[in-house]
Amino acid sequence: MARTNRQQWITHGVERTARADARQANIAAGRAVATAIRTTLGPNGSDKMLIGADGTVIVTNDGASILARMDVDDPIAEMLVSVAAAQDQTVGDGTTTAVLLTGELLAATEELLSDGLHPTTILAGYHHAVDRARKRLDAYGIEIDRTDDEALRAVARTPVTGRWDDASAERFADLATRGVRAVETGGHVDVQNLTVTALPGGELRESELVSGLLVDMDASSTTEGFPFGLPRQIDTARLALVDTEITVDTADAIESVTVSEPEQRERLRAYESETREDVIRTLVALGVDVLFCQKSIDTVVRTKLANEGMFTVERTRQDEFDALSRATEATAVQSVTDLTRADIGRAGSIERRSLGGTELLTITDCPGERHVSLLLRGGTEHVAEETQRIIEDCIAAVRLVLHDGRVLPGGGATEMALARDLSAHADTVGGREQLAIKAFAEALEGIPRALIANAGLDPIDELSALRSRHEENATIGIDPTTGKPRDMVQSKVFEPPSVKDRCLTSALGATSRILRVDDIIRAKPSDSDDTDHGSDEHTARAHRSTDGYPWAIGH
Ligand code: ADP
Ligand code: MG
Repeated sequence: MARTNRQQWITHGVERTARADARQANIAAGRAVATAIRTTLGPNGSDKMLIGADGTVIVTNDGASILARMDVDDPIAEMLVSVAAAQDQTVGDGTTTAVLLTGELLAATEELLSDGLHPTTILAGYHHAVDRARKRLDAYGIEIDRTDDEALRAVARTPVTGRWDDASAERFADLATRGVRAVETGGHVDVQNLTVTALPGGELRESELVSGLLVDMDASSTTEGFPFGLPRQIDTARLALVDTEITVDTADAIESVTVSEPEQRERLRAYESETREDVIRTLVALGVDVLFCQKSIDTVVRTKLANEGMFTVERTRQDEFDALSRATEATAVQSVTDLTRADIGRAGSIERRSLGGTELLTITDCPGERHVSLLLRGGTEHVAEETQRIIEDCIAAVRLVLHDGRVLPGGGATEMALARDLSAHADTVGGREQLAIKAFAEALEGIPRALIANAGLDPIDELSALRSRHEENATIGIDPTTGKPRDMVQSKVFEPPSVKDRCLTSALGATSRILRVDDIIRAKPSDSDDTDHGSDEHTARAHRSTDGYPWAIGH
């Protein structure tokens, strides 16, 4: 991106960029990323078409998805992408906001620098602003009744509004709320007991909350050789969980060693079949109905078990395996022969279902920890993934609000309130630092400004209308459809305080890291520096949060 504009020269294999230019180029790179996603903010945000290197086209209006897939090779842009990933991972929402706010701050910083402010003064002002803003967030929080499902649904609705038609948004908000509620005890939400599975095909309205566990047979296990004739449903099932491969030496392997010794070969064959019989005997004696194995299961064993009416699932995913153990109270063992009666888990019912070309097992009525699964349907594989991401945002929001016990008005209302407070507060702060605090306040207005612009209105007019409305009411935000000011408490647009808090600290962190760099040194490629910085095929959520960036060593 901005790299081409950089004045670079090469000395001893090291590329350097001049001091002032380095900072400028970095700021420009950061702003470019923010600009790229600005129009996606809010329910009325527009879609972006992402075209992959292989020609695949993805249309999305989720800032987090865009950032996660953006092919950036500029270290600053890359850093913003990782800020977004970290935001997504820690609080699950507010990704676009955090990056936009960073972009606004960088723009403000550029002006302050050209006015002659030193980066240290600027950063001191920003830190001051964030400290105060975070305290104000506490004061602005509106207490909610944690037992009030309607209030929680309102929180869940904010991330889904505008993504689909109103009825679907309502439905998903309700599913997410019920899902979280099901695994909540006294404000604490056990997220590991709530899983979200999105399957392409079908209709959005076919999405459901399953009270129990889902095991995706396609994703987690080989389904080929599924024994014919096994029941679709097993009642009062007994389950066994085995960690390691269930195998016996293959005849082929033996052959190569002992081909010339028929007797020994015979003995090994006998041993092999004895081992298999042992496995089968143990499982039959324990009355196991379904066997889950994290690795593969010998085909002959599988067939024999099928003949005994036993259902086997190979390559069960680790998370599903753990969830099975918690819900069914089964204890995972190393090998089948270790199994005892006490290790056997139970489930009221295990059912096989085929949905959207995927085989699923639903495991319900378990004696252990309560587990619920949100099964999302509709659209192509990509749409399903997107749906999953948005629902995860809803879940995160509801969980955080249950934890915080408070909400903040959305639609830019909170940012505007903070901006007004900081701008007034700046006057009481002496020195040049106050300029930076004022600049921070203006950057915060970038959020309502983007919401107005995304509704197609003129940000200058509407923003001043919003500012003046705030004199009487600090919960006025922007209605994303009309672009006009509207009371967010009345329209029940609520967000978790932790998301807003994290947006502030994420933006400050990114800005200060960018600002502290005054020199760019491109070291020559080193063999050992092949660390993966999270740009794999997973979504941003699956990324490891890297609280730093490749070359930030020493900061
Ligand atoms: P992020 O990645 O930051 O969560 P979103 O695209 O989800 O970005 O947009 C979030 C912004 O949209 C927040 O400022 C939120 O308050 C606002 N928003 C969402 N729903 C509404 C609504 N119904 N009315 C007004 N603002 C809304
Ligand atoms: Mg959001």
